[in-house]
Amino acid sequence: MDSEADSQQLNAKQVSVLAMLRESSEELSGQELHQRLRLNGQPIGLATVYRHLRQLQRLGLARCRHLPSGEALYAPRERDTHHLTCVSCGLTLPLDHCPMHGIQPQPEAAQGFELLFHTLEYFGRCPRCRHSASADA
Ligand SMILES: [Zn+2]
Ligand SMILES: [Zn+2]
Repeated sequence: MDSEADSQQLNAKQVSVLAMLRESSEELSGQELHQRLRLNGQPIGLATVYRHLRQLQRLGLARCRHLPSGEALYAPRERDTHHLTCVSCGLTLPLDHCPMHGIQPQPEAAQGFELLFHTLEYFGRCPRCRHSASADA
């Protein structure tokens, strides 16, 4: 699906939410997105931002992941970036490439699904938390 086909099924607000997600090199929380849209002169309520984000997820145009803190971060569906997240302090760092790149289920395993994206996330302890854990012991 190219971006022109994408925008045909979206209203103007959804188009600007999606454009803002694509413009940002990093994932955005609903609040950050809300703030950026306002700074950009596009007044929109926070509840409306979340509603449009849910709609974009349903259309397979946006993706979401949750940090250990419960915070939800959004990115455009086509961005194939994965993260290392520290279970202890919540530090989250992008991997520089996707370990799953090009790996897909065989067509018969996909059971007729149109595959849009995958998720993969590593959890562990960051160097700082590893260090303070061993200092405590
Ligand atoms: Zn940590
Ligand atoms: Zn990937």
